[in-house]
Amino acid sequence: MTIRITVLGAGFGGMELCTILSESLGHEVEVTLIDRSDAFVFGFSKLDVMFGHATLESVRLPYRRFVKPGVRLLRETVTAIDPTTRRVTTDAGTHDCDYLVVALGADYDIAATPGLGDVEEFYSVAGANRLRDILPTFSKGQVVIGVCGAPYKCPPAPSECALMMHDYLLTRGLRGQCSITMVLPLPSPVPPSPETSKALIAAFAERDISFMPNRRVASVDAGRRVAVLDDGSELPYDLFLGVPRHRAPAVVEASGLAEGSWVPVNPRTLETKFPDVYAVGDIANTGTPKAGVFAEGAAKAVATSLVARIRGESAASLYGGAGSCYIEFGAGRIGRVDVDFFSGPKPTGTYYEPDVALRADKELFGASRKARWFGL
Ligand SMILES: Cc1cc2nc3c(=O)[nH]c(=O)nc-3n(C[C@H](O)[C@H](O)[C@H](O)COP(=O)(O)OP(=O)(O)OC[C@H]3O[C@@H](n4cnc5c(N)ncnc54)[C@H](O)[C@@H]3O)c2cc1C
Repeated sequence: MTIRITVLGAGFGGMELCTILSESLGHEVEVTLIDRSDAFVFGFSKLDVMFGHATLESVRLPYRRFVKPGVRLLRETVTAIDPTTRRVTTDAGTHDCDYLVVALGADYDIAATPGLGDVEEFYSVAGANRLRDILPTFSKGQVVIGVCGAPYKCPPAPSECALMMHDYLLTRGLRGQCSITMVLPLPSPVPPSPETSKALIAAFAERDISFMPNRRVASVDAGRRVAVLDDGSELPYDLFLGVPRHRAPAVVEASGLAEGSWVPVNPRTLETKFPDVYAVGDIANTGTPKAGVFAEGAAKAVATSLVARIRGESAASLYGGAGSCYIEFGAGRIGRVDVDFFSGPKPTGTYYEPDVALRADKELFGASRKARWFGL
């Protein structure tokens, strides 16, 4: 009988996994990829949409363009997962398989922060798109970029938001009448790379952006326009831009796969405690950041290991836990940090100074995935 592999979630992890399976095995196996959305949007595109650098339409990559031999992409919502029998239930039926890969990403837990539902967040596509219309109406006062908990996706993204907000206000001639404050529940903007953190903190200082490390937004009082921090102090705002707390999607929590907020896995093989069930990307607790580039690295390891298992070969590659992140420093300049979590006794980061030339590298990062996954 043909081997069946079901992959839940067509994000960075799910799409890369299915692409490698298709390239390596084609129609030798039946791969079913399930996602509830009709399009994919890169995380970094949300900042472009929010600040008016791109329209939502221009950054939506429709799944109908994801066409790979041996892979069926179904637009369904996963409603239950039984990791023991490897049976997945969706709003359209059930799917049984020999190997199951869960790549459903991280959900936002708006309710975990009282009052957050009354203000704006920029981490969802809908939130970023709403802000695209709201920002032009803002002309004066205090902007607070407030992170409500860690871990959160793409550790540098709130810093990028602060720097891009500075440019946005400067361009509109409003910077002098606005303040910008960023609240972060981490000791520094990019903890594995002290050099990157130092550069970001210097960039904040140059632009008069206040940085509050080791603090998280515990609640928001939209009536009084104050963010309440975890030490009880209050931060007044005129425009609040939130990063909600993250959690595993409820369907994963209910499946018994998650412990605490995330799915425990062997960090090098991505195996869960259930035989032939893997978890990759933001959902998995690997000790590496929640970022697309890491989801992709984990997917590569699982794909090569599945190919080896199916072919009866023993050699399988392990997840390396390394990746490069591009960071918007403002004024068109991009920095880069290469982080490596598993090679040494502790995570390390190599920092590359912001440069306009690195913009081409970032554009290539997006364009190469767009071409590989969507043929665009
Ligand atoms: C503002 C911002 C900037 C970012 N910048 C970067 C960056 O520059 N570089 C980088 O590497 N990363 C960046 N990221 C992070 C990156 O977007 C994520 O870490 C990455 O997408 C995670 O990949 P994943 O495959 O684990 O999950 P996702 O890409 O989130 O995919 C999960 C998929 O599961 C689907 N799904 C969820 N629940 C269900 C269900 N019940 N039924 C069916 N389908 C479901 C979703 O529709 C989604 O398509 C950024 C994120 C943000 C918010």
